[in-house]
Amino acid sequence: MEEQRHIEGERLQKVLAEAGIASRRGAEELIRQGRVSVNGQNVTALGTRVGPDDEVCVDGQPVDRDIGPVYIVLHKPRGYISTVRDTHGRPSVLGLVPVKTRLFPMGRLDADSEGLILLTNDGGLGYQLTHPRHAIPKEYLVLVEGNPTDETLERLRYGVWLEEGPTAAAEVSRAVTGGEGVWLRIAIREGRKRQVRRMLAAVGHPVRRLVRTGIGPLKLGALPVGKWRFLKGTELAELRGAATEAAVPLVIAIDGPAASGKSALGQALAARLGWLHFDTGMLYRALTVLAHRRGIDVHDEDSVAELAHQARVSLVRPGNRTGASARVVVDGEDVTDELYTQAVDADVSAVAANEEVRRALLPRQRDIANQGRMIVVGRDIGTVVLPGAPLKVYLDASAEVRAMRRQQQFEANGQVVDREDLLADLRRRDRYDRERPNAPLAVADDAVVLHTDRMTLEEEVEVVMKLAKERFPALALGAPRRGG
Ligand code: C5P
Repeated sequence: MEEQRHIEGERLQKVLAEAGIASRRGAEELIRQGRVSVNGQNVTALGTRVGPDDEVCVDGQPVDRDIGPVYIVLHKPRGYISTVRDTHGRPSVLGLVPVKTRLFPMGRLDADSEGLILLTNDGGLGYQLTHPRHAIPKEYLVLVEGNPTDETLERLRYGVWLEEGPTAAAEVSRAVTGGEGVWLRIAIREGRKRQVRRMLAAVGHPVRRLVRTGIGPLKLGALPVGKWRFLKGTELAELRGAATEAAVPLVIAIDGPAASGKSALGQALAARLGWLHFDTGMLYRALTVLAHRRGIDVHDEDSVAELAHQARVSLVRPGNRTGASARVVVDGEDVTDELYTQAVDADVSAVAANEEVRRALLPRQRDIANQGRMIVVGRDIGTVVLPGAPLKVYLDASAEVRAMRRQQQFEANGQVVDREDLLADLRRRDRYDRERPNAPLAVADDAVVLHTDRMTLEEEVEVVMKLAKERFPALALGAPRRGG
């Protein structure tokens, strides 16, 4: 009978977290340590469920289970720490909110930083909002030393190289310039330790003040320093929505052979969704451009490998526009307009076949794709780069149809080309892509294969849009982007 009751009900760690005793992880620890009892019996099994009438105690003290979840927005002043206790005796933000239940901050702010901080006893939401994989964008106003040039702002946007590697692209703009100096507005998705401070130090403009002004859709607004308020129900719903959205990577992977129309489809989808079109072939092409500039023979594998590991290849969103193709920046220089020349066409396969090149570019491609809202196009995206992509499309067409489409493209540009030559070239490239030992072109097990010989671009777009609506249910697809 007693057993039966415990099969239903809520998991013990959830009950403890909801009562504000600890985060869910913390509650699990308490249970493991044998400090939790149910109806007088010590419980150490994590799966234990308790009903509403069961008496739960921690360290022998009954837990008041009536306290619901509490969410508080606080404007953290400088000098306060966001953890509970400090070894240096500095005051904690928890002292600023007269709420009985045990709260913890969702995402910390350094003692010398100010601004928006969320306090809650809801471990579930806390986890969702702070887990790096689900990171939602956070926005800061930053007072810096000196006056950064436009070029420096571009560097911050592209990604700055920190000790542990490059930062993902950031949104950066000038806010105000007043008596105190120059303020920048910066939005980042990653939450590495003291990231904004380190990014600005890396470009020679150390941070003097740092104020967090937004966490996803939630804004600090006019809340005075040191003051707090309860989160509104609508704000909570928006935060949950943003966290759910961030949990499913918003990426569509498109692979396929040369001239199968991947880029055309990628661009059309990006325009429909308001996402970014990221053609990974551009990265291999950018390295080829760089090799040419440095006089490196693309068949000299060691030199090309070294180049790939040293080169700082970044992807840039074109301004604030969405639905457009990304641009590629290498070592601070935009090379996008040099990628599609005959000289690059002739050498890029050798660069792409270099194992070290692929090894160097792999984490960069993942970093970039992690920013989400992206159509990622290439040869190995669904299989190697983003095997976890929620929607994978493999675009196929016969060599004859691809050659015909290519020919029409050339003719539209006033260039005369021989169809047989094009066909022979495509067949050669197909063989090369499929037979190369490193990340050969292949259909991912869970990819949707589209044979496009008899399809128009519009039809392709419709098919993929339908799939996207199924795979990304959290999205009101096509709706303009909210928040940051
Ligand atoms: O698609 P695009 O012609 O721009 O690709 C340039 C080169 O990079 C090609 O040789 C292609 O095989 C290679 N590539 C690759 N893996 C990708 C994208 C392109 O090997 N993900």
